[in-house]
Amino acid sequence: MAVERTLSIVKPDAVAKNVIGQIYSRFENAGLKIIAARMMQLSRAEAEGFYAVHKDRPFFKDLVEFMISGPVMVQVLEGENAILKNRELMGATDPKKADKGTIRADFADSIDANAVHGSDAPETAAVEIAYFFPTMQICAR
Ligand code: UDP
Repeated sequence: MAVERTLSIVKPDAVAKNVIGQIYSRFENAGLKIIAARMMQLSRAEAEGFYAVHKDRPFFKDLVEFMISGPVMVQVLEGENAILKNRELMGATDPKKADKGTIRADFADSIDANAVHGSDAPETAAVEIAYFFPTMQICAR
């Protein structure tokens, strides 16, 4: 297994619920290290750019509105198999279908407001990490 990096976002619904720490604990308990982090209020252009791959999907407009509805916490996670490990911790996109004990099962309300984002592949992880963090702001350890 390779050491990987993945981009994680605690979305506005989870920030509003005050569960950033509980979500961070799940990353750490699973052996993932937080090697960069920033809280930010995304602009519309930043949210649209981040989700550009979904721009033709029917949910795109609502997704962008949701992502700019409040601050988000953005982090880079590093560890063995980090991309899949984070996806397993997150659970399915629709919290109703997410396995018990996953972040989305425990903290998400709906498929729109689903608590967290996580990169789905090495290529997207690289692009998404670079979208938010210059290399010098990533603290490899
Ligand atoms: N989404 C939505 N409605 C849908 C499908 C997706 O609002 O029917 C949103 C949801 O917030 C999801 C994001 O779009 O997390 C990106 O969708 P993707 O299929 O990439 O899911 P993810 O990788 O986040 O599980």
